[in-house]
Amino acid sequence: MINMDEIEKLRQENEELKKIIDEKSDLISISAHQLRTSLSAIKWTLRMFMDKDLGEMTKEQEEFINKAFNSNQDMIKLVNNLLLINKTADTAVSFNFKDVDLVELVNHTLLEFADEAKKKYTEIKFHKSEESIIISCDKQMMHIVFQNLTENAIKYSHEKGTININIEKSHDGKNVEISIKDDGIGIEDKDKTNIFNKLFRANNAIEKDHDGSGLGLFTTKNIVERHGGKIWFESEAGKGTTFYVSLPIL
Ligand code: ADP
Repeated sequence: MINMDEIEKLRQENEELKKIIDEKSDLISISAHQLRTSLSAIKWTLRMFMDKDLGEMTKEQEEFINKAFNSNQDMIKLVNNLLLINKTADTAVSFNFKDVDLVELVNHTLLEFADEAKKKYTEIKFHKSEESIIISCDKQMMHIVFQNLTENAIKYSHEKGTININIEKSHDGKNVEISIKDDGIGIEDKDKTNIFNKLFRANNAIEKDHDGSGLGLFTTKNIVERHGGKIWFESEAGKGTTFYVSLPIL
């Protein structure tokens, strides 16, 4: 039998652990914000070179500045992901739930990626069964979900691929289901159980794109689950992948 002293001891240990986790999370947040400020300063300096505010550059100089700019952008993305993970994993941070039209949100996200898709001659097809589907969600967080899934679909596709996005209500009208289907590199069976793990990147993904972080899907799953939803995928290596998100309509 556990006596009262042992319960009290466990309670105190629990409190101490919570304090350590909170302090760690604050430290990540402060460091990430400081890093982002410095990276932004670098970004604007490089921009001045790219916009020729500091004079003309040779072709070679331009190439190096472009490379530095792109690497800096990757770092900014990584830091943003760190901040997001910290926020989404901390259940004490409340999301800002509001009525949002999901059809409009997905459409808006796809438009943001139009240029990136064009660069790879990728066709994006959006199929919607209704003009609007209203759900209660944190708009900024949900935007990140569809940004991550769309970005991955483009990134892990070959040139001239097609991405099909479908959005519809479930048969009982209680959920909205979104699927994002690409015909890209796919996911090998041995990697399937790791896909939502923090920092995991499959070998075929690393080959295709060196600079990913392996943080996007981890964050995406966190956000979807904090909305009472589910995320899963079907994939065949070399053929393509479909990610599914189901969210409750309230
Ligand atoms: P990142 O794309 O930065 O590597 P993510 O967390 O978004 O990180 O994805 C984790 C891993 O899941 C990727 O590295 C890749 O192996 C796999 N993956 C995600 N989306 C796709 C996709 N559409 N097609 C093939 N593999 C994917």
